Amino acid sequence: MKLILLGAPGAGKGTVAKLLTKLDGSVQISTGDILRGAVQAGTELGKQAKAHMDSGGLVPDALIMGIMEKRLQEPDCAKGFLLDGFPRTIPQAEALKALLVKLGIKLDAAVSLEVPREVILDRLTTRRTCENPKCQAIYNVKSMPPKVAGKCDKCGSNVVQRADETEEAISKRLDTYNEKTAPLIGFYQKEGMLMNVNATSSDAVVSAIKQKLGIN
Ligand code: ADP
Ligand code: ZN
Repeated sequence: MKLILLGAPGAGKGTVAKLLTKLDGSVQISTGDILRGAVQAGTELGKQAKAHMDSGGLVPDALIMGIMEKRLQEPDCAKGFLLDGFPRTIPQAEALKALLVKLGIKLDAAVSLEVPREVILDRLTTRRTCENPKCQAIYNVKSMPPKVAGKCDKCGSNVVQRADETEEAISKRLDTYNEKTAPLIGFYQKEGMLMNVNATSSDAVVSAIKQKLGIN
């Protein structure tokens, strides 16, 4: 399947993407994970992205499009992909549209994950992430704590609060989302590609997507 996952920070795009990869071998492409990996590795991309990310703002569109143009041409994307955290602005959505035409790729849908603001705030402040850039497993101190406090179940690395998950940065990320990313819902509605789902439960989102795409 070839999907765009839209939704506020904390809507569960990453969790849903990981569940969907198990259905048909489609790959999750998270621009946030790619950028955090670059920051940790200290690459040129990471240096350019870090300040934007830590403040809760967005990384410039041109950097993101450079990453995505390469990523979408890697062989593992042939089976399908789940775009998690991209596109994030109208210019990115326009550029993606042109890129997909150029690559001869057709998307199945843009899925908007709808979650009430209180749920979002609660999820983000209790979220913890594995600091190993190759793992980045997600936990929640309330609903899904690691088996050993502070250590990743999968790789044993430290499980930490992200730099952009302080209350101040979260509030900035939600403002950025409302201003820059929420307009994409209207964009994909006009494109005739939008699917709205209530995303209070990630499993329910997966079921709705399976039904829409006619998977088993
Ligand atoms: P979230 O949990 O807010 O969805 P992500 O992990 O997707 O966070 O992204 C973390 C940060 O990386 C964002 O706040 C932003 O600074 C940057 N980022 C990720 N994807 C994009 C994108 N498509 N365009 C611009 N910046 C991005
Ligand atoms: Zn880990």
